[in-house]
Amino acid sequence: MANLSADGQDEGRMEFLLTLKRRGIGDQAVLRAMDEVPRERFVEAAFADSAYADQALPISCGQTISQPYVVAYMTEQLGVRSHHRVLEVGTGSGYQAAVLSRLAREVVSIERYRTLADQARQRLASLGFANVTVIAGDGFAGVPDKAPFDRIIVTAAADEVPPALLDQLADDDGVMLIPLGPQGAVQHIVKLTKTPAGVRRESLIPVRFVPLLAGQAQEL
Ligand code: SAH
Repeated sequence: MANLSADGQDEGRMEFLLTLKRRGIGDQAVLRAMDEVPRERFVEAAFADSAYADQALPISCGQTISQPYVVAYMTEQLGVRSHHRVLEVGTGSGYQAAVLSRLAREVVSIERYRTLADQARQRLASLGFANVTVIAGDGFAGVPDKAPFDRIIVTAAADEVPPALLDQLADDDGVMLIPLGPQGAVQHIVKLTKTPAGVRRESLIPVRFVPLLAGQAQEL
């Protein structure tokens, strides 16, 4: 008997890459990385049929896995090279970390919910994404003992750039992406680049992310 759901998923995956290209993602390495990570393994079973639709989906702890276009866009803007060490703040499902792991030497990802951190760590290990380390902790503090990072990506929205993260960004051409702006209103992805002349700041596309909250979650 034909496996209808798998066929549907293959079509969905082809459409998925076409949508990313149509929306302007042009970096072949990023498209390849998006193609290599099975998003259906990062969403709840109930949403597996929507895994390749271009939309954010709910995950545990009231959080969300980001929309594929936003993942691809931020990955492209981050300009990850194969020798880079990358810090992600906001592991969530681990999906963005998996995409980054295809492009970087090493990915360190920090998540304030221990439940999400544990699930993501297990999921990434079982799928063979061996160059990702998931840490349960407060991303406002970064991961000082593994700094500096060539690239930093924050996948939750803040009012301002956490100073510790800027300190942990490499001085030599370090790039950080972070959604900034008030909750419940339009935020913008802001790109910070460390140059010898100081930190260059550019505002990119409007987005809507869950908030970056201070402290490690007390609940699971
Ligand atoms: N990148 C994720 C989606 C992230 S949603 C993915 O690919 O699935 C944002 C995540 O940031 C949530 O899981 C939330 O719990 C986490 N978060 C919010 N504030 C944080 C903080 N201070 N430190 C670490 N993680 C935080």
